[in-house]
Amino acid sequence: MDGDPGCLLARTVTDSTALRTLLVSDLHYDLRKLDWVLAQADEVDLLVVAGDLLDVGSAVPLDAQIAVVLEYLGRMAARTTTVACSGNHDLDHRTADGEKATGWIAEAGRAGVVVDGGSAIVDRWLVTACAWWEGPRTLVDLESALDAAAAVRTGRWLWAYHGPPEGPLSWTGSKHFGDPELPRLLDRHRPDVVLCGHIHQAPHADGGGWYEQRGATWLFNSGFQTGPVPSHVRLDLTAGRASWWSAQGEGATDLTLAADGDAHAS
Ligand SMILES: [Zn+2]
Ligand SMILES: [Zn+2]
Repeated sequence: MDGDPGCLLARTVTDSTALRTLLVSDLHYDLRKLDWVLAQADEVDLLVVAGDLLDVGSAVPLDAQIAVVLEYLGRMAARTTTVACSGNHDLDHRTADGEKATGWIAEAGRAGVVVDGGSAIVDRWLVTACAWWEGPRTLVDLESALDAAAAVRTGRWLWAYHGPPEGPLSWTGSKHFGDPELPRLLDRHRPDVVLCGHIHQAPHADGGGWYEQRGATWLFNSGFQTGPVPSHVRLDLTAGRASWWSAQGEGATDLTLAADGDAHAS
């Protein structure tokens, strides 16, 4: 699969004054949240579900969760460009090397969803879904997918990547749970935007946050809350604005994005 950036569909947003993007993550097989996200799909140009679609603690068997979530993802993809990356709750098998991995999400890829290792071009943004990795083999697969996507990059680049790096987005209020490899991958590729989840408390915790700027890269964690509406981030990638909403609080920020085409100059 080296050199193959996965299913590379191209989609042009008709209203080029806005690239309306919705980030949700950690839906954890909550059907009310999945219903809410599906209802939003018509209103956005890009929908990103940044991992933990399933819930390993649910009483519903994993196979049944997978069937239901695949149905939702297919419906979302029929309405807008939909990106879904795996999280640690989405693992469903072990590789030949004994590492846990996510296989089922490839089925959503066949329904038109941009999934783990795959990329799409949306209004001149390259958008890539990054798989959750648990060991050296699955990390190498992720690195290969990013290198392949980098080869077709011409301008701005957005990643869906479940685990944020150490910093405000991975702060639980008492401890950091940062992805140890993401800082290196950011240095290597310098994506413009990385959409994360995983650390449910980070946007709500003292010392945590829902966004972070690292060099040229803006990272977001939409967080988790109970109830039918997931906490979420809305971005306008054309105007360079982002806002976060949860039942407990909200916020907004302007993004300073590198000039299109300069972001990856080196
Ligand atoms: Zn989660
Ligand atoms: Zn997680």
